[in-house]
Amino acid sequence: MALTLFNTLGRRLEPFRALKAGEVGFYGCGPTVYNYAHIGNLRAYVTHDLLVKTLKYLGYGVKHVMNITDVGHLSGDDDSGDDKMVKSAATRGKSVLEIAEFYTKAFFDDLDLMRIARADVIPRATEHIPDMIELIGRIEKAGFTYESGGNLYFDISRFPNYGELALLRLDELKAGARTGVDENKRNPQDFVLWFTRSKFENQALTWDSPWGRGYPGWHIECSAMSIKYLGEQFDIHAGGIDHVPIHHTNEIAQSEAATGRHPWVRYWVHNEFLVLDKGKMSKSSGSFLTLRSLIDQGYNALDYRYFLLGGHYRSQLQFSFEALDGARNARRSLLERVKALSDQAGAIPGAYLPASPEACPAASPDAGAIPGTGVVIGEEARKALDNFRAALEDDLSSPRALAELWSLVRNPRIRAEEALAAAFVMDSVFSLDLWKAALERREASTESGESVREIEALVAERAGAKKTRDFDAADRIRDELKKRGIALEDGPGGTTWKRI
Ligand code: AMP
Ligand code: ZN
Repeated sequence: MALTLFNTLGRRLEPFRALKAGEVGFYGCGPTVYNYAHIGNLRAYVTHDLLVKTLKYLGYGVKHVMNITDVGHLSGDDDSGDDKMVKSAATRGKSVLEIAEFYTKAFFDDLDLMRIARADVIPRATEHIPDMIELIGRIEKAGFTYESGGNLYFDISRFPNYGELALLRLDELKAGARTGVDENKRNPQDFVLWFTRSKFENQALTWDSPWGRGYPGWHIECSAMSIKYLGEQFDIHAGGIDHVPIHHTNEIAQSEAATGRHPWVRYWVHNEFLVLDKGKMSKSSGSFLTLRSLIDQGYNALDYRYFLLGGHYRSQLQFSFEALDGARNARRSLLERVKALSDQAGAIPGAYLPASPEACPAASPDAGAIPGTGVVIGEEARKALDNFRAALEDDLSSPRALAELWSLVRNPRIRAEEALAAAFVMDSVFSLDLWKAALERREASTESGESVREIEALVAERAGAKKTRDFDAADRIRDELKKRGIALEDGPGGTTWKRI
């Protein structure tokens, strides 16, 4: 089987085919940094992480781009309401840039705690204004814009495919049109490309442009930055389900209007919402749960990650502390199981433990030994890995993939070192720190005096020496470790070590 994804564009499961064989261009909408991310937002980023790590597991190279919005996002995605950044800065008595810096850092801290890998490119909107101006210029030249009330608007009536992603019908749009939106608009769904004189005359950050001094609309940011880093056509674009009817619909309209290419993005992947008992969680309403608040209540960020992986990204997920307790207990049992396997495997010479998390085998092993480990796996472990892969290939079914991890580590017919090695392979996608649990156990039970960390430090020092081509030093370290009863094995995934 090959990877199948549910494409919002067309609303069907489709086999995934990369535009360029083996390589994937992926853009995930990032945060507007006017406040902490709430735990619902983190569901979106865990979904992106699951997608990226699955693609890598399946052997694709991935270029992942995620924007940081630090200008232009109004509280209503349809240009209504206040500017989120300006309002937050005024309330807190700080400058917009200070607010952006503070919440961007807080966001990165959350990503790290949740083991969400950083995107390869993380462009900030304020650093890409010339790209936006250029793209708006192309849209204007192609005849899709009009000026009104000092702002430049996108004219949706010029774009026949408008609403294709969201299955919008113009008659329905008119019926659902909000009142009191922007009177400068010809159609309620027209949207701002560039603001000059509108309700935000005292906007903190403004730039010169062919349409006057002002600032960009929110939607153009994502189009300009994704096109800049991924090209005029790319593979996958993701975000929360709320972005389908406005933000992504508008991104498509303006990108395709500028480039004349269709489809701009091949696959649209949208995660469903995390909901509270009380209903929708909203960042602008001010009362919401953050990762920090979960940690303050004694949870580990990975309890929450485990909780999220337990639901399929396309199903609504109901958050409750009871459910989070369940995830915490399950994660703890999983770690206990990994530690027990580590104890058993420890008695076996050559038991596998990667020298560092980076050395965890990420690539899918097709046959025989797991790369970089020397561990040959038998039929049952192989089957568990095959099922794990099939679950992920089936539109990223993380709940089924997790079930495969459980059946692997519980299967009495699979040897401990095989189960452990295969579990680490699976954890290259789950990122639940299984490796760390095994390492901690090993460290706690090292009887011979020197700690595992000391060995790790020497292995890392030797890698550094090899990098600088100081082979004498590298050999000295190898001999030193040998004297201590440690053998090294250099492989494509890095160096592994074992007791002899
Ligand atoms: P924002 O910072 O508001 O632009 O949102 C960041 C990401 O979180 C977007 O992809 C949203 O679609 C997504 N999102 C917002 N609320 C939720 C929620 N309750 N559950 C899941 N995703 C959400
Ligand atoms: Zn976006």
